[in-house]
Amino acid sequence: MRGHVLFKVLISALLTGLLMLSAAVSADTAVESVGWPDVSFDQAVPTLESVLGYAPGERITSIDQAHTYLRALASALPERTRMVEYARSWEGRPLVYFLVGTEETMARVDDIKAGMQALADPAELSDERVESLIDELPAVVWLAYGVHGNEISSTDAGLQTAYHMLAARGAPFDTIRENTLVAIDPSQNPDGRERFLNHFRETYGIAPSTSAIAAERREPWPAGRTNHYLFDLNRDWLPLTQPEVIGRVATFQEFFPLVHVDIHEMGTDSSYFFPPPAQPFNPHYVDAQEEMLDAYGRNNAKWFDRFGFEYFTQAVYDAYYPGYGDSWPAFHGSVGMTFEMASARGLAGERRNGEIVTYADGVQRHLITSVGTIETASSNREAFLSNFVEYRRSADAGEHGGPREYLIPLAGDASAVHKLASNLVRHGIEIRRTTEAGSACDRDMPEGSYLVSSRQPAGRMVRTFLEQESPMAEDFLAEQERRRALGLRAELYDILGWSLPSLYNVEVQACDRVSIDAEVFDGSGVPAYAEPAASQVGWLVPWGTQAAGRFLAAAQRAELNVQGADEVMTISGRRYERGTLVVRIADNPQRDADELHMMVSHLAEMSGAEVVATDTSYSEEGVSFGSSSVMSLPAPRIALAWDDPTTSYSAGNTRFVLERQYGYPVEPVRVEHLPADELDRFDVVILPDGGNYASALGERGVDRLKEWVGRGGVLVAMSGGMRFVAQDDVGLLPTDLERLADGKPEGDHEGDVVDGTQLEDQDAYQSAILPEAPRPDSIPGVLLRTKTTTDTWLSAGVSDGVAFMVEGRDVYRPLTLDEGWNALYFEAPDNIEAGGHLWAENKAQWAFKPAVVQASYGDGIVIGFVADPTFRAALDGANVVFLNAVLRGPGHTARLR
Ligand SMILES: [Zn+2]
Repeated sequence: MRGHVLFKVLISALLTGLLMLSAAVSADTAVESVGWPDVSFDQAVPTLESVLGYAPGERITSIDQAHTYLRALASALPERTRMVEYARSWEGRPLVYFLVGTEETMARVDDIKAGMQALADPAELSDERVESLIDELPAVVWLAYGVHGNEISSTDAGLQTAYHMLAARGAPFDTIRENTLVAIDPSQNPDGRERFLNHFRETYGIAPSTSAIAAERREPWPAGRTNHYLFDLNRDWLPLTQPEVIGRVATFQEFFPLVHVDIHEMGTDSSYFFPPPAQPFNPHYVDAQEEMLDAYGRNNAKWFDRFGFEYFTQAVYDAYYPGYGDSWPAFHGSVGMTFEMASARGLAGERRNGEIVTYADGVQRHLITSVGTIETASSNREAFLSNFVEYRRSADAGEHGGPREYLIPLAGDASAVHKLASNLVRHGIEIRRTTEAGSACDRDMPEGSYLVSSRQPAGRMVRTFLEQESPMAEDFLAEQERRRALGLRAELYDILGWSLPSLYNVEVQACDRVSIDAEVFDGSGVPAYAEPAASQVGWLVPWGTQAAGRFLAAAQRAELNVQGADEVMTISGRRYERGTLVVRIADNPQRDADELHMMVSHLAEMSGAEVVATDTSYSEEGVSFGSSSVMSLPAPRIALAWDDPTTSYSAGNTRFVLERQYGYPVEPVRVEHLPADELDRFDVVILPDGGNYASALGERGVDRLKEWVGRGGVLVAMSGGMRFVAQDDVGLLPTDLERLADGKPEGDHEGDVVDGTQLEDQDAYQSAILPEAPRPDSIPGVLLRTKTTTDTWLSAGVSDGVAFMVEGRDVYRPLTLDEGWNALYFEAPDNIEAGGHLWAENKAQWAFKPAVVQASYGDGIVIGFVADPTFRAALDGANVVFLNAVLRGPGHTARLR
């Protein structure tokens, strides 16, 4: 098949090339293989070729072309289709879903939505009503393609699935059409797909370059996998920070599809993956869901066997983290799946064994599994609808066994509390807001606190989102310990910890008995903003909240002169903790008191921050405004290291946090350009996670960067960036990476011969094969809790308990008192875990080790974050210390501006 297909691709590519040069030439349908065999097609339905001028699989269809084709289908068959825009990408591209059904089905789409929403809350329905709904509703099947923009073939598979559902006559289409309503999302990440395609177009010649190192198949930084802010959208279903995913989650709750498929590509050398997934499963899956996954898998296998396609199941892709497109739907009682096809990463790619994988191969296989999925849902329609109802009924009845309620007291950072509550509402979780002050389970609950019952149809989602850990099966963990003892990698695909309270640093407490008046919260109407009073002296903004962070960023951007108190103040009887912002009328002579009052009021309203007017600057206890520990906080100009060797997620997510969560602009600067004289225009340089900065900068570049810090710059380095600044030959940060504690010491290997030993038993043998001087075992992504050192400005406003997502093995020794501050350090072993499972040795070694450090370098400051505070923009709890570093750091250098 290999040579034959390559020949066809070459011919088609040649024709494609000619077409690009001369639009008059019509392409031959060289790739005949895309399509369902043994069916006929209704000629009234426009083919891809009739609309776009090429056969399916022959070219990589762009977003605009995909929409053009879907619109053509919609205008040819308006009574059997509907195209709906559900979101816009950052770059302004529409995201759409395309509904396909029979005329009869499409005429009642609104009733179908209402019916599924009714079934989603079965306690409100009589048994007869449930039965009649199950009897009359179609199986809603959601097929979502291309969440990773460089996993390209799926978009064309989506278009072909739409075409086949409308045009194909014969089995299985005649039956499955009757029983289903199919939604096709042709591209979940249009910005990423267009990034890939631009690169492909720029590097393509007259025929596909198939080698693994061909320019057209190797993308430059950043690859098309991610969206505009370089997020992996298939990890955002939990934090919900990106518009593409926020739109999908809302749409899901209109339809409650029975199955949601997320359709991907993987490495060229692999084959095809469909569920059942690998272990571990999230413990809140129910047996019926595993059985349904098995049914979908068996049916896809039937077709793949018939057509002779290779596949694998039950490996690599697990079902543990609840924030994927294939897992999140499960916690609403649906089934989610991932399909993965070996990628051509272009029109054709060559495997190590010489086989060719074509784009058309990908389109064809994804078409088969798409149709196979619709078929499974169709033939099991009633049973799967019943399973959906039963999942939601049993959760509502508390059969998952969790605590009755979770309390979210309005305490600590109120803006984070409100954000957590609003996020849960977006997820489709019912929340109540208390309308009186009260207490429950010995916890004070001020008015405006939140209650989340686990006795609701999404109760299992409530548990996996709010509890610190969703335990993996014991036998799975035991197997991983066995593998680790053999030096094998643990079989874990992504992070192990995701508890939303830990991510946001918000207190959540389980409680079985609550009697406080509360009403259902719809996600709007908070935070309450209080207009600050007028003043003759100025205003104070207590620090340590997300809202105060937004206030500072906006004030700096508006060129307001703001100061920050590094010490505690007591003014007019109120104690203000370290970090409080001060806006003095006398410091802002360009505006009169009324104007400044208006401006401060506006900033308070848009940020949600508490702003307190004061008519005195006299502090009854602690420092007054004129003290040297009340520092001016000028607006910093921020450069963010960009491009190789930075990690695109880290660079993009960091930019997003500053720009979109706090409204403060950053300027991405390619690492190769950092050593330029222009660097002196910047006050702050952020080095996100990354690979080998030293080699990317070169010796001269490293020296230039050090000189810039020495002249008063603030260098903020995270994970890989911190590894770079801590290198001995760089010398910007005086700490060191640790080896494994109690690991085998380095032996003496002088000469070719070593002293003989007698290994007396199995234990002696096991210790003989241990590696020498090993690094600590890698952590797959676990939330670790920190403590705060109270006397540094870097920790001002940061409460104990802030969690960081720790991945990898970079544990550092603490800075000594003469070297700098360990502003945040990890908690004691018994309190370090804030989400996810940590190996025992990791727990013992990471305890009390630094999380955020600061050291002086010349007139400047170097700040190291052991783990990214901007991880997936989900770690709101870590934002305060990050903003201290970036927005307040320059106020603490000796730099002359
Ligand atoms: Zn993917």
